[in-house]
Amino acid sequence: RVLIGNKVDEKHANWVTAYNMLTGIRVSVSRTNAKLDRPLTDADFEAKAKTTFDITGNELVPSAKYDFKFKDYAPWVFRHLRQLFRLDPADYLMSLTGKYILSELGSPGKSGSFFYFSRDYRFIIKTIHHAEHKFLRKILKEYYQHVTENPNTLLSQFYGLHRVKTPWGRKIHFVVMNNLFPPHRDIHTTFDLKGSTIGRDYREEDLGKNPRATLKDLNWLRRQRHLELGLQKKRLFMEQLQKDVKLMQKLQIMDYSLLIGVHDISKGNDENLRARNLQVFSPGGEQTDQDPNQVLMRTPSKLENQRRAAQMRQLIKSERPVPMGRSSAGMPDVLEEGSRSDSIFYQDDGGMRATHEDDSPGDEIYYLGVIDCLTHYGMIKKIEHFWKGLSHDRSQISALPPEQYGDRFLSFMEGITVSREEAARLEFEKERR
Ligand code: ATP
Ligand code: CA
Ligand code: CA
Repeated sequence: RVLIGNKVDEKHANWVTAYNMLTGIRVSVSRTNAKLDRPLTDADFEAKAKTTFDITGNELVPSAKYDFKFKDYAPWVFRHLRQLFRLDPADYLMSLTGKYILSELGSPGKSGSFFYFSRDYRFIIKTIHHAEHKFLRKILKEYYQHVTENPNTLLSQFYGLHRVKTPWGRKIHFVVMNNLFPPHRDIHTTFDLKGSTIGRDYREEDLGKNPRATLKDLNWLRRQRHLELGLQKKRLFMEQLQKDVKLMQKLQIMDYSLLIGVHDISKGNDENLRARNLQVFSPGGEQTDQDPNQVLMRTPSKLENQRRAAQMRQLIKSERPVPMGRSSAGMPDVLEEGSRSDSIFYQDDGGMRATHEDDSPGDEIYYLGVIDCLTHYGMIKKIEHFWKGLSHDRSQISALPPEQYGDRFLSFMEGITVSREEAARLEFEKERR
């Protein structure tokens, strides 16, 4: 009995939290978007806007199902970031706060973060530690500068930083970011690579139970995998990765990974397999009445998208009778798959097509990027480095100082990025010796 009770409570709490997160985003983001655009100032990076929600509402804040407080951090900076990453404002709100919104990914990391996908699978909400939250605010300006100067950055794209506070004072910090994986393609294998080997192994025996598990560095090496890119793509990829890592070294960040989702073109899509790991959450706390497979995995039609975007525009207008900023000017109403970001690494169906040595297309599409990049090399990691260093080879443990972490990361990625032909030659030479 005790167990069941706990479970229900926990689930219920998540539903309420998810509802509050999305309500807060809807109201605060549409409020910012409703104003005329203007250039950023230094103060925008420090800014925060607080909104109190309650069941009665008032002329500034619409009524909500629950009482909670919401904080929107650096709203103007994130508005500009969303613009930079080519998100249509109405589309963004619609994806996040339309009906039947979220699905929760069952605790994928050790850190205790929760992950939620937007209904259409394009965005991820990740709850973060207070330390990560403070750190993102601290580096926001440099992050902003970097992504402005590097339109092809492989770093996580942050679209919002927010906080929900319950009436009894619990604070939940979270970010909204890009889902690297596409809504319309199966990912057949996923790897989370750091360039370290210690503890970087997923037990392959457990794959039967969990075929979608995220594999790690040792699995990659054991399977003799390569990131099959011809010379030109490899050069572009490595040059961008170097710039991104350089920033992280400067900001003393570590523990990040290169997340790679592989779509095998010959296998295509299997709709049932995709839905299996996901649970549907609805904002009101009730189970949704639709079949989860359909809710989650069907990519909305163009018409549906347009209707939803129009509804959302209406909503923005009705909440604030101020003309919309020019952020959506000159952009099509609904951006199509693959055109959301200008990045050269997300050009082939939202990802990067494998290529042969002669740059002809290969039979896989890679969906990749650098994730988990808010861990500052602080006290905890220094302690970990000390203790692990006593028992292992120092260059192989994952908690290295940022400089070495970045160098090791880069040289690992350099080593695995090899066209199929070159890999075969290297293998042949190894055997001859
Ligand atoms: P830990 O600190 O223990 O590594 P964490 O809670 O910080 O865990 P992340 O490392 O950020 O979590 O992510 C865990 C997993 O969630 C990743 O390995 C990946 O499978 C998935 N994931 C995270 N971010 C993304 C993203 N942007 N797109 C797609 N999948 C993601
Ligand atoms: Ca991680
Ligand atoms: Ca982490």
